[in-house]
Amino acid sequence: MQLPSQITDNHGRPINYLRLAVTDRCNLRCFYCMPEEGIKYLPKKHLLSYEEMERLIRLLAKMGINKIRITGGEPFLRRDLIDFMQTISEIDGIQELNITTNGVLTEQYIPRMIAMGVKAVNLSLDTLDKERFKTITRRDEFDKVMHCLNALIESGMRTKINMVVMAGQNTEDIIPLAKLTENAPVDVRYIEEMPFNGEGLRNTEFTWNYRQILSTLTQQYPDIEQLVSKPNSTSTNYQVPGHQGTLGIIAAFTRNFCGSCNRIRITAQGTLKTCLYDNGVLDIKQLMRAGAKDEELAKALLGAFNSRAKDGYEAEKRRKNNSPVTESMSTIGG
Ligand code: SAM
Ligand code: SF4
Ligand code: SF4
Repeated sequence: MQLPSQITDNHGRPINYLRLAVTDRCNLRCFYCMPEEGIKYLPKKHLLSYEEMERLIRLLAKMGINKIRITGGEPFLRRDLIDFMQTISEIDGIQELNITTNGVLTEQYIPRMIAMGVKAVNLSLDTLDKERFKTITRRDEFDKVMHCLNALIESGMRTKINMVVMAGQNTEDIIPLAKLTENAPVDVRYIEEMPFNGEGLRNTEFTWNYRQILSTLTQQYPDIEQLVSKPNSTSTNYQVPGHQGTLGIIAAFTRNFCGSCNRIRITAQGTLKTCLYDNGVLDIKQLMRAGAKDEELAKALLGAFNSRAKDGYEAEKRRKNNSPVTESMSTIGG
């Protein structure tokens, strides 16, 4: 079977970006992501093994996937993750390897990430206030995360901060985080809250949308300038003149950037998602464990890429069993 060297979906969108969740476990309990008691973790044998993930990546790399983001759960909770990252950084065709992490265990791995060519680290940090951090994450790890942030900046790695903006919870942190961009080359990304909270019963109907976030930024910085973003960027990006870093808003709940969506996701349990809002379109783990050859796997993957929903709204409508979006982001990876 001749593999396409660049996968394109049924809407003509090239797909070159894989977000891979390597675990569903986490050492924080952010309330927008999971309930206080946590989620029911999958038994270990239900997680994809490193060998299975490597096999998949090698196959996808032949089809044009050239960018990978490692996510989770908290990726660094998976044992020997750094060695696995080394392996995939060496796969032919993988040009960019990034990671999203909560920063609790991350600092010790910075030198190895730099050595293997990891391009950027996204650090999730929703507040600069220690007490609020504890309320949001339900854990007392603020100091470690701030230490990691400083180490990342000092290391010269490109550092993005992900802040989930939550009405009535941390909107007062929008400007303090923006101020970080003044003297350091960090990129702050403000993300609309989505309902992926593991039935943590948050009402996302009244969450702040991208307009409210932008208006807060422009009130503080009337001369803020919009930047030209990369074609597949999910964020609309800005810079305050004279600041070293940038500000970006991700309208993740509004979903206004689906027309150029180049990404697929593989969950920790080995399910393919062709949109963040679907609830899985292909059980790749089952196929692999039933002995599927690469050719059969490729055929199944191509079938899924050829029936992608056109946007997040269609994907949500098509969810199996009409189930509402309630799963924890920890099982998906964001
Ligand atoms: N544990 C790592 C971390 O927090 O960076 C990686 C996984 S986490 C699920 C990936 C991203 O998803 C984080 O930046 C987090 O803030 C974001 N996220 C989680 N739940 C969300 C929600 N309900 N709405 C918007 N973003 C969410
Ligand atoms: Fe853990 Fe990340 Fe979810 Fe927070 S957002 S609970 S750090 S997986
Ligand atoms: Fe892509 Fe779905 Fe996100 Fe839209 S909502 S950008 S289609 S993953």
